[in-house]
This record gives sequence, structure tokens and C-alpha cells, in this order.
Amino acid sequence: MLTKKIILELENKLTEQKTAIKKELESFAVEDKNLKHNWTAQFPNKEKGDPEEEADDATEYENLLSLEHSLELKLKDVDIALEKIHKVKTGKYGVCEKCSKKIEEKRLMACPEAKFCIKCNI
Ligand SMILES: [Zn+2]
Repeated sequence: MLTKKIILELENKLTEQKTAIKKELESFAVEDKNLKHNWTAQFPNKEKGDPEEEADDATEYENLLSLEHSLELKLKDVDIALEKIHKVKTGKYGVCEKCSKKIEEKRLMACPEAKFCIKCNI
């Protein structure tokens, strides 16, 4: 049973995560103002010239794109969890989206944005 104290703790964790993810994204990507959860990684802005260096930049950019994508997904999960926890009385927070059972408290503590219980998260 999730007590008020635990809910508050989880909410704090989620808010902290959101801030941290956003900060990381902002360090190399720009958020689309019109489209929520859509970020665009910026191409490394260096002087052109050395072809070898340009190839490095391209690889670096690809890495950034995949990092951006995974951060974007995580941010989305955190946002959804935050929305649910704000409306905790509707009983949607902490419930497995697959089997509709309650997600283990230990699991939520480690991963407050969890959408599935341990059994379904395989
Ligand atoms: Zn489940």
C-alpha cells in the first residue's frame, strides 16, 4: 500500500529525474516548442576543414541522436508517471499497464516511472 509519505517521496524522485534528464538534453539538443517531447540534437558546431575530423563529428552526432532518443523516451515515461501521481486518487499510479496488478513498492522506489510490474517487465 502506497502511503502519502511514499507517494511524496516518489513524486520528488520523479521531479528530480525530470530536471536531470531535461538538463542533459538541453546540453546538446533543442526542444521543439510546438511538439511536446520532441528534441533535436544539434550538430557539433566546429570549424570545417579536416575531413577526418568531420567524419568524427558525424559519428559523434549519431551517438548524440541515439542518446537524445533514449533520453526523450525516458522523459516521456517520467512525465506520464508524474501525471498519474498527481492524480493518485484515480488509482492509476503504480498499477501495471499489462496485468493491472499493483507494482511492487520496492520496484517503484528504484524506478518510480515503472509502467509494468516485475513479472511483466521481461
Ligand atoms: Zn504486470
